[in-house]
Amino acid sequence: GSTIGILGGGQLGRMLAIAAAQLGYRTHIYAPEASGPATEVSAEWTQAGYDDEQALTRFAERVGVVTYEFENVPPEALDQLEALVPIRPGKRSLEISRVREREKSLVRKLGGHTAPFRAVATLDQLREAFEEIGAPSILKTSSLGYDGKGQVRLRDGSDLGEAWREIGGAPSVLEGFVEFDAEFSVLLCRGAGGETAVWDTPDNVHTNGILDTSTVPARSLVLAQAPEAIALARKVADALDHIGLLTLEFFATAHGPVFNEMAPRVHNSGHWTIEGAVTSQFENHIRAVCGLPLGSTARTGVRAEMRNLIGEAANDWREIVDDPGAKLHLYGKHVRPGRKMGHVTRVIRAAEKP
Ligand code: ATP
Ligand code: MG
Ligand code: MG
Repeated sequence: GSTIGILGGGQLGRMLAIAAAQLGYRTHIYAPEASGPATEVSAEWTQAGYDDEQALTRFAERVGVVTYEFENVPPEALDQLEALVPIRPGKRSLEISRVREREKSLVRKLGGHTAPFRAVATLDQLREAFEEIGAPSILKTSSLGYDGKGQVRLRDGSDLGEAWREIGGAPSVLEGFVEFDAEFSVLLCRGAGGETAVWDTPDNVHTNGILDTSTVPARSLVLAQAPEAIALARKVADALDHIGLLTLEFFATAHGPVFNEMAPRVHNSGHWTIEGAVTSQFENHIRAVCGLPLGSTARTGVRAEMRNLIGEAANDWREIVDDPGAKLHLYGKHVRPGRKMGHVTRVIRAAEKP
């Protein structure tokens, strides 16, 4: 059928559903929450858990292809869906990107650089790993972390028992702290035939572990490291036989690009592409999962800047719409501190002065 199934009901699902609608597709959102940013813009939706076998089967029967907006879909749900309907990106992309040490290991195998890291499953292993990696370092849960949640920073003399309790004793990765000059991401879309398209690599600034701004073109120190990072992203996408958007986050360091993490999906650092590129990350993802050719990723202006509206910052929406050049996106969520409520993009055309 011409209905695209989307697992997950957040803002990424919402923007995917909007892009799909523009191309003439219907979307069907599957999410455990009663309603959310994605269900509000989608004609069909199922509210059910990822362990509800009957609901998953009915969902699979109503859609022609399944994609997802987050990487923590339980493997059992994927196994069940996979038997009934194509899932794009495929299971391998999720298996790897769901677990931090797996994605780091794959990147290393393909010749990329990462911070020194050790997977830890017990407090004793954390002590050994800290002995080896030293301070400063960061303890991150292997799965389910986002916006810097599920992370503890360790210094010399840090209480490891307390750090271990803080992350709930979950399987984790201890990684060395990277001295970086900038952060950037590679946004890559791989089509059903293996062709790839990349956008300008945004220069990303994080505040308190949450993305604050993404800007293209990036500063020259990032531009100098982008080709190596893009080549690595292509290798990763090919190795996974990935179809759709793949995002890799990097630190730009004195020794070149250091891989941080990946996401097998559209990404916050790519939101600027809605107005700032001929084809957005959302549209190209939909094109890829539907087997259509990819659209141009060329920039529409000399510069584009995306700023996240976190928590209370979304209350300034009135001032933002007073600026005729600002493009406001609100996700329709209830304000909570630290929550991504929306974003605003500004594209600077050649004639304007920034
Ligand atoms: P998200 O998925 O929302 O991007 P996350 O919770 O998976 O975030 P990371 O991307 O691992 O978290 O870390 C968030 C931010 O913390 C990074 O963008 C970076 O600014 C900082 N950070 C993470 N790991 C390191 C590191 N090893 N060295 C230095 N800074 C780091
Ligand atoms: Mg992450
Ligand atoms: Mg990150």
